[in-house]
Amino acid sequence: MIEKLGEEKSMVTTFPKPPPHEYMECLKNHAAAIGGSATDGCGEFMAGGEEGTLEALKCAACTCHQNFHRKIPQRGGGGAKKRFRSKFTKGQKEKMTRFAHKIGWKIYNADEVELRSFCQEVGVNKKVLKVWMHNNKYNHLPTATATATATATPNT
Ligand SMILES: [Zn+2]
Ligand SMILES: [Zn+2]
Repeated sequence: MIEKLGEEKSMVTTFPKPPPHEYMECLKNHAAAIGGSATDGCGEFMAGGEEGTLEALKCAACTCHQNFHRKIPQRGGGGAKKRFRSKFTKGQKEKMTRFAHKIGWKIYNADEVELRSFCQEVGVNKKVLKVWMHNNKYNHLPTATATATATATPNT
C-alpha cells in the first residue's frame, strides 16, 4: 500500500537570485602587512569570468575577490537593464586616453617608471588601466591600425 505521489523527483529548487548589488571600489588593504593602508585603486568590480564560475567572483581588474569591493544596492531598481559602468571620472578618462594615445594603446609600450607614476598621479591601478585600455582601444583606434610608424625620419 505504498501510495506513490507522482514520484516527487528531486525537487530542483532554483536558488533565488541574490538581490542585485553593485560592487564598487576595491577596499582591500594592500599595505596591511606594513601597517599602512593602501587600496589598489580599482574603482569597480568587474567579473573576471562568466556568471556562475569561480572567476566571476574575481575582479578582472585587480584580481581581488568580489567581497573586497564595496557592496552597494543597485541603483534604480525595477529590473531596468542598466549596463552603466563608468569606473572613472571624466578627468581620469581624459588622462588615460591621452596616455594611451602616447603609448599607442599598448601597455607594454609604456615605460615602467612612467607607467607607475602615471597610475599614481591619476589614481588608477595598473591592471585597471590595462583592462581599460584593452576595452577602449577600439573606440579610439580607427581600425586595426597597421600603420607602420616605425620608420622615424631622421630629423637632426
Ligand atoms: Zn577590483
Ligand atoms: Zn582589489
